Amino acid sequence: MDTFESLGLSKALLRAVEDEGYTTPTPVQAQAIPPLLDGKDVLGVAQTGTGKTAAFALPVLQIVSRGRPQGKRHIRALVLSPTRELAAQIDERFSAYSEHLDIRHKVIFGGVKQNPQVRALQKGLDILVATPGRLLDLIGQGFIDLGRVEFFVLDEADQMLDMGFIRDIRKILALMPRQRQNLLFSATFSDEIRELSKSVLTNATE
Ligand code: AMP
Repeated sequence: MDTFESLGLSKALLRAVEDEGYTTPTPVQAQAIPPLLDGKDVLGVAQTGTGKTAAFALPVLQIVSRGRPQGKRHIRALVLSPTRELAAQIDERFSAYSEHLDIRHKVIFGGVKQNPQVRALQKGLDILVATPGRLLDLIGQGFIDLGRVEFFVLDEADQMLDMGFIRDIRKILALMPRQRQNLLFSATFSDEIRELSKSVLTNATE
């Protein structure tokens, strides 16, 4: 049986996982974490409740803390989520898993004042969790630069399509470097998702 140690996670992350009381990786974690730590793209069919957040948050944290450049932080990982509730939950998981790391992350979503979000962006972040509308809004105002994103996560891709976010996703894709690592999670797998995954992923493991 897989253990968190056998997946290749760093000591700081193993401690965080232990603090959370997790003893064994869930199937989606056992399948996604090793290829992600290896730099590969992953296409995952996973529903909420399967442990999918840790399946991407742990590798993202490990990769981002590995080569953190000197000087002001810039956004190196972007996690896109369809709703503010999901985005907030993901951000809360990043807080838990980054307990023993020097990583700054923030969630931004619409329906609330933008000033606190802008202030956090101006201080510098390593990881940004966002819903598409507010993200594009703040990009348009010049507060966010995605030009140095190394890791892109598209969570709940089917819900993104259902909510009509496809054009926003395409705009966001065009603002990131082509050379980057990608992860796409979807609860269902349709022709539309397959099509979307072609424009997001380059060398995927399913
Ligand atoms: P998610 O599917 O990411 O929304 O996670 C569902 C719940 O499972 C969350 O409350 C996580 O904290 C929890 N969880 C994630 N991974 C594990 C694990 N390996 N063992 C036990 N609980 C976990």
